[in-house]
Amino acid sequence: MIIILKQDTKKEQIERLEAFFAGMGLKTHLSEGEHSTVMGLVGDTSRVDPDMLESLTEVAAVRRIQEPYKKANRKFHPLDTVVDCGGVKLGGGHFQMIAGPCSVESEEQIVAVAKAVKQSGATLLRGGAFKPRTSPYAFQGLHDEGIRLLLLAKQETGLPVVTEIMDIKHLDLFRDVDVIQVGARNMQNFELLKELGHTGKPILLKRGLANTLQELLMSAEYIMAGGNEQVILCERGIRTFETATRNTLDLSAVPVLHGLTHLPVVVDPSHATGYSRLVPSMSLAAVAAGCDGLIIEVHNDPPHALCDGAQSLTPEIFDEVARKVHKVRDALNA
Ligand code: PEP
Ligand code: MN
Repeated sequence: MIIILKQDTKKEQIERLEAFFAGMGLKTHLSEGEHSTVMGLVGDTSRVDPDMLESLTEVAAVRRIQEPYKKANRKFHPLDTVVDCGGVKLGGGHFQMIAGPCSVESEEQIVAVAKAVKQSGATLLRGGAFKPRTSPYAFQGLHDEGIRLLLLAKQETGLPVVTEIMDIKHLDLFRDVDVIQVGARNMQNFELLKELGHTGKPILLKRGLANTLQELLMSAEYIMAGGNEQVILCERGIRTFETATRNTLDLSAVPVLHGLTHLPVVVDPSHATGYSRLVPSMSLAAVAAGCDGLIIEVHNDPPHALCDGAQSLTPEIFDEVARKVHKVRDALNA
């Protein structure tokens, strides 16, 4: 349920309402926009009488939110959320490019890629240390050593880092990581999401291989319900009957999510397509669709990459993509 407050509502009146709802066991969430202040109620609102609330002098209108996601709902929080990723703002008009290898492989590799993508305008560095691989015999990542090397690349370049967590027991290792990624395969690992809700870290939440947008938003809600509202959603392609691409990039997810939620939406054209030759055009299409950022796999030697070489761009191609991305953004803003 949301309560739209009258424009001249005073702080004391808001505090009185908050105390009233706390007495009913409900949490309140205040969202102050330019033209209105919205108070959201979280919890079992079945005992709240909307007619009674509407009769209060400070209340302009009361609406029930039908959708099961509340904190992630744009009705609850009309303004775009801007997530602070280690000093880099993402969302609400702040567009960012996250680039780097699928996996951290060595100091030489991660530092070289970090320097190259920074030069091309990337503002965050990605690199997996814990890799969710289909085969147990495939490279599983360098684990704690991978995180150490990623942080070394951060030190060398100043780029904040994004890396995937697969098990909450590793959380201590992520202390200096700027953004924690939850991969597609863990989108509905609810215990992991709950724990991440108690961290103060931004979370990049990837859409599951076969999950609806509502399910993605419910997973974001798990993190937000724990108090962590710094969530970035990521469209990374879904499973369909099509086999020409690794996944099917659902670009309509971008405007659909922007309508349903205030959380920023980034697109991963690398995992969505699976082929480096398709990444440039899909990056530009995602930007044209209005995404708040891109996450792109870049490797200094794709044919020898330990993971996802076929979809990784060389730094040279990434540089071209980055330049074109800016042109598309300029065209959109013209
Ligand atoms: C990744 O980002 O390297 C990754 C494994 O992505 P996803 O979870 O989208 O498959
Ligand atoms: Mn990958």
